[in-house]
Amino acid sequence: MTSQDFIQKEDKFGAHNYHPLPVVLSRGEGIYVWDVEGKKYFDFLSAYSAVNQGHCHPKIVKAMVDQANILALTSRAFYNDCLGEFEEYITKYFGYDKVLPMNTGVEGDETALKLCRKWAYEKKGIPENQAKIIVCEGNFHGRTITIISMSTDPDSYKGFGPYTPGFVIIPYNDIEALRKKLEDSNIAGFLVEPIQGEAGVYVPADGFLSAAYDLCKEKNVLFIADEVQTGLARTGKMIACEHENVRPDILILGKALSGGMYPVSAVLADDDIMLCIRPGEHGSTYGGNPVAAKVGIAALEVLKEEKLAENSEKLGKVFRAEIQKLVDQYEMVDLVRGKGLLNAIAIRPKQRKTAWDVCVAMKENGLIAKPTHEHIIRFAPPLVISEQQLMEAIKIITKTMKQFI
Ligand code: PLP
Repeated sequence: MTSQDFIQKEDKFGAHNYHPLPVVLSRGEGIYVWDVEGKKYFDFLSAYSAVNQGHCHPKIVKAMVDQANILALTSRAFYNDCLGEFEEYITKYFGYDKVLPMNTGVEGDETALKLCRKWAYEKKGIPENQAKIIVCEGNFHGRTITIISMSTDPDSYKGFGPYTPGFVIIPYNDIEALRKKLEDSNIAGFLVEPIQGEAGVYVPADGFLSAAYDLCKEKNVLFIADEVQTGLARTGKMIACEHENVRPDILILGKALSGGMYPVSAVLADDDIMLCIRPGEHGSTYGGNPVAAKVGIAALEVLKEEKLAENSEKLGKVFRAEIQKLVDQYEMVDLVRGKGLLNAIAIRPKQRKTAWDVCVAMKENGLIAKPTHEHIIRFAPPLVISEQQLMEAIKIITKTMKQFI
């Protein structure tokens, strides 16, 4: 079968809820993927930052296969001999009392919202059903009905109402707006992405996160960081909040918590918050299963053993400096922004060519990335990339941009 055959099959039998780049991948290793015709590509999406450790990392594969051969799923109706080890490892790794394991990122966010509301009623004393959570314009926290209820992107929310109430929206990176909304004594939490990934890699002003955290503390409001995309070394620190020495009250992790092997997400908090949820009040059949537990430990070990945060920090600077040369030289390349190896290039659409067209041309040249919105392309390679490989990739990006000039 050719790429075209695979595309047609998906088109015919699959729901049309994605618009993939026309490339059909069949193998991955490290920073590279291959299509069904055998063509090799730099992967500059990393499955939306799930593959920070590189495709099919041998240590994570081994952890998964070994455990899959022993015991894969028990449900939480029983204890298993892997979960406690994972819980101890991840809580010590990030310095929290407790963890609640889930599977996908959006489940992590939902869990955080439930925790925050429960804490608001039990600890803060907000009257039942009155709790509100502040969120930001341009947010992306996933696709469930509650999560899209706080979205400001019509593609995400339009046609899916009625929506879940209890959210207050402020502009991203606007500390004064946050201050004002925090005057409401029914505010329980502030949910924020330390860098808005899906919106187009929007980095807030230096000091925004720490100022927001301080304001939340003043008002006894929980600071909830969605680090599903920004966490786990992606931005040059283990979590992006570390850039401003902020320790979120609730920390949400996902994606790279399995290195792309398996859906593993986690919500971390201290006892005062986490113990507000009691048996029977929340859970998931697969959350915290033995394979996820072993994969999670291996994925976290790889981040430290291979110093991926340090590599991300260092090579992110190289990436932005090199792309800045294109910005200075070519009108079409509008700007580059990001932190660590989570970056975006904004292009000025020329002769109606959009980021999509640039991504298709980059694919032809051997590098895959995905547009977010019409003129922004996110570049997020696996963090195991070397400087030499990065320079090769930048050559492809440069060559592609020149084709559009
Ligand atoms: N939160 C953020 C910041 C994300 O970027 C994403 C996915 O891109 C999610 C949550 C949702 O994760 P998932 O697709 O695993 O549900």
